[in-house]
Amino acid sequence: MKPFIVLLFSLLAFGANAQNTYCPTKLSQDQLQWLRQFQSEIDTKGLPSQSAVITYVPVKFHIIGNNEGKGYYSVSSLLRALCDLNEDFLPARLQFYFAEAISYIDDDELYAGNSDAIWFRSEDYKKDGAVNVFFHGAGMQWCGVYFPGVDVVFVKNSCQGSTATTLTHELGHFFSLPHTFSGWEGGNDPGVWERLDGANCRNAGDGFCDTKADYVSQRWSCPLPWTLKDQTGASFKPDSSIYMSYSSDQCQSRFSEEQMAAMRANVAARSISTLTADVRELPTPKLVSPQNLDSNISPNAVNFTWRKVAGAFAYHLQVARFGDWNFINHDVLVYDTTTVLNLFGTWEYTWRVKAITNAYSCGSFGASDTFYTKETASGLVQTETQNVLKVFPNPTGGSQFVNLEANEACEIEIRNVQGSLIQSFRLEPKRLHQVMFDKSGLYLVYCKQAESVSVRKLLVD
Ligand SMILES: [Zn+2]
Repeated sequence: MKPFIVLLFSLLAFGANAQNTYCPTKLSQDQLQWLRQFQSEIDTKGLPSQSAVITYVPVKFHIIGNNEGKGYYSVSSLLRALCDLNEDFLPARLQFYFAEAISYIDDDELYAGNSDAIWFRSEDYKKDGAVNVFFHGAGMQWCGVYFPGVDVVFVKNSCQGSTATTLTHELGHFFSLPHTFSGWEGGNDPGVWERLDGANCRNAGDGFCDTKADYVSQRWSCPLPWTLKDQTGASFKPDSSIYMSYSSDQCQSRFSEEQMAAMRANVAARSISTLTADVRELPTPKLVSPQNLDSNISPNAVNFTWRKVAGAFAYHLQVARFGDWNFINHDVLVYDTTTVLNLFGTWEYTWRVKAITNAYSCGSFGASDTFYTKETASGLVQTETQNVLKVFPNPTGGSQFVNLEANEACEIEIRNVQGSLIQSFRLEPKRLHQVMFDKSGLYLVYCKQAESVSVRKLLVD
């Protein structure tokens, strides 16, 4: 049964935190009570001795797109995020692994991180017995948040790029850690300030005695550009290395010993962990189809097949035109040894596959294969040289009109380099049509006629 009344209050608190990229997590009373008990036992029984044994925690990943299924957090980013997460938590002897396949959810409101939607709908998607992490994409709201009421973590895609620590910070909350500046959130004054000399460290701030006093509740670059003063007049700068502070991601590198002990005890209390997970780095699967250098592949419904690797949880498949891995056409996790993907045009494509276990996502790809598509299904011949379509100026700057003009009427399709349709319209002969681009990048402008297609590359800087 969800605590509805408690939740409505916390939603108001989230509203107040909108329009920033902070973390509005508020630990529940139950969590805080558990933590106070744990912390008081540190003083009576001492810190639990660190075991060499690693505890494995299953994570269910949910990737949210908008109603059209756009804006997903990429598989590459997710695998890197899991790899980084495990690196951050290794000193705590905690490791995370895929509980099961990724779920994709198309929902405009969840995509925007809407608090009501998270409260009322995320429960429908949750997997019991796992940490549930949702990646969403839009909105000016918070970077990451742990909602104790529904026990889910939400992270904005753009806040979990390479070297980001947002997910690490939010999982710290999941396992009961408060901010190092606990009590100061939203610019409040907690009344009792944690002292620099540690005299009141159990009863002020985060209650941990090996995290330094910290009063800064806005994001800061390290070292803090100004100096703090405690109530005894001692001046200091807070510790930027702790994940649970608001220092910039690149300043953060650790949990304290007491924080790590608290998380280990919390994991045990939640009984969701396991004693093993498969952390092996697997060999690269042998690619089967399309055959290397096959030059006659229809771009519609291309069948990709590779050999099974024993112990694989899933296969990470990437396809890129010209082998340019900065512009990937498909970046998917496949739980079988075959899948069908749509490509487009008459182009050179390169593909590669990596086998992963459920707990090790840091490996790299092996060799890739190349094949060539031929758009023959409709009988159309694609050409770069036909002088039907003019696109100018090219290259062009952003927020500047690009002119399209053709000798004969044609159906225009403008696609980005990933093949997504940006615009389509009918171009009348010898009539200038102007288009504005709001994103820089390489575009392909197709001019389709009954018997042919001509295509122009357009670079928007
Ligand atoms: Zn936080």
